[in-house]
Amino acid sequence: MNAPTALDDRPLLGRSQSELETWVTEHHQPAYRGRQLHQWLYQKGVRSLQQITVFPQKWRDDLNHIPLGRSHIEQRLEAKDGTVKYLLRLGDDQIIETVGIPTARRLTVCVSSQVGCPMACDFCATGKGGFSRNLAPHEIIDQVLTVQEDFQQRVSHVVFMGMGEPLLNLENVLAALTSINRDVGIGQRHLTVSTVGIPQQIRRLARYDLQITLAVSLHASNQDLRCQLIPSAQHYPLDTLLADCRYYVEQTGRRISFEYTVLAGVNDQPHHAQELAHHLRGFQSHVNLIPYNPIADAPYARPHGQDIEAFLGELEDYGLTASIRRSRGLDRQAACGQLRQDAQRAVQTHDPT
Ligand code: SAH
Repeated sequence: MNAPTALDDRPLLGRSQSELETWVTEHHQPAYRGRQLHQWLYQKGVRSLQQITVFPQKWRDDLNHIPLGRSHIEQRLEAKDGTVKYLLRLGDDQIIETVGIPTARRLTVCVSSQVGCPMACDFCATGKGGFSRNLAPHEIIDQVLTVQEDFQQRVSHVVFMGMGEPLLNLENVLAALTSINRDVGIGQRHLTVSTVGIPQQIRRLARYDLQITLAVSLHASNQDLRCQLIPSAQHYPLDTLLADCRYYVEQTGRRISFEYTVLAGVNDQPHHAQELAHHLRGFQSHVNLIPYNPIADAPYARPHGQDIEAFLGELEDYGLTASIRRSRGLDRQAACGQLRQDAQRAVQTHDPT
């Protein structure tokens, strides 16, 4: 007789309906229980198998040790404009940030892809806090479900603009994107991955030929300035990054969204607009101007409204498509990584050691 094969008891979140059907069959249940499990996991958003009331009580008790892969809401902060920022506690007690952003017809979730971030961009709070680890697919999917549940409303869009650099965690990010699309039911065109640019990875991503939006955090119009703001840019010349972006557009037929955090007096002068236009002319792209959200320990200032408008006007005069991103939830420390930075400070302040 064959030795029994070990049952797969990894977190259930991230598995497709057919994988769940296989899983329940291995647990000696009929396949239709897999379809029920899929619905309760992704549509009803249960946090434990005990909550799946259509399952026999005895089986639920037997399965008590099986992790679904859900996090715990450690803190929830709501801004005046309805934006909600969450600190989520993971299975190993690490803390990540997620933001729910409601607008007229949308509910957007800003997800983290790593605990912390190793890129150390000079104006980013997450970068100041160091790096711990990559997130697993279920930890990314959970963020979407958490916001969906809390708002009691279907999430329509997901952006990977929380903590971390998604292209340093490409495999898990791709698995999460697949499940968010297939299982949670959000269209690929409503999913955005934002990257500061990692050598080779934009080309790798291009080959998957996805219909997601790629956002590239540019922030500077020349290599020298970019290296000042983004240490990793030293190893990824602007020309190479832009060549990889062109390759991405050719492969996928999708335009690229260039993120440009505007730092008063640093990257918003007329010659910066001219340089940017020189690089992006004839490129299927969109420039998203993000007014800098002030953080502790960074020598930058938020630009005045009229200065950002002027910079936008210059870009448009050069024929670029550009817009200004309205800051959401500023009163709740909505800049990337800020809430966690504050929480860490609070812990450090109260920690007697
Ligand atoms: N690592 C990825 C995704 C996370 S950051 C990336 O760099 O794209 C998401 C976006 O927020 C990036 O464009 C980043 O530059 C921007 N950002 C970070 N800190 C900011 C701040 N203090 N003010 C404004 N934008 C910020």
